[in-house]
Amino acid sequence: MKSVRFESSSPEETRAIGRHLATILPAQAVICLVGNLGAGKTTLTKGIVEGRGAAREEDVSSPTFTLIHGYGDPPAVYHIDLYRLDHEREAAGLGLEELFEMPALVLIEWGEKFPRLLPPDRMEIRIAQSGEDRRTIDFYETAPPPQG
Ligand code: ADP
Ligand code: MG
Repeated sequence: MKSVRFESSSPEETRAIGRHLATILPAQAVICLVGNLGAGKTTLTKGIVEGRGAAREEDVSSPTFTLIHGYGDPPAVYHIDLYRLDHEREAAGLGLEELFEMPALVLIEWGEKFPRLLPPDRMEIRIAQSGEDRRTIDFYETAPPPQG
């Protein structure tokens, strides 16, 4: 379980870390973004999307209500937010397994709510608030054991 840690002290820095991650991530991967509401999962995604050249940061918005956003044509990055779903069967109807086959990065917020719907060979990024504007961002090349 190889992991890399980044420390951020502002949203701008988190987006820059996202742009950096975009350069080291493979073309195709499923990545769970794990962290509390407001941790910075969507902020980091903005940087990753921009770093991939799929869209500009300001054009990336949270898929809280729309559930899935695709960036690029064809999409190079999919951004999914399962926060509002309560039941596995709702998430199972989204066609996630088809997205997981795409030659794209698939970034998922709150995917850990439905572990049975996720591919076992996924990556994970954990973001923890360590101060008012400080965040610790841990990137795992393979999903670490569940947090407990
Ligand atoms: P999430 O998607 O995890 O719910 P967002 O990225 O939507 O979180 O929101 C993160 C919030 O925290 C934003 O309001 C942002 O301005 C603020 N923030 C403060 N410091 C940071 C930081 N270092 N990195 C990311 N966001 C930060
Ligand atoms: Mg979010």
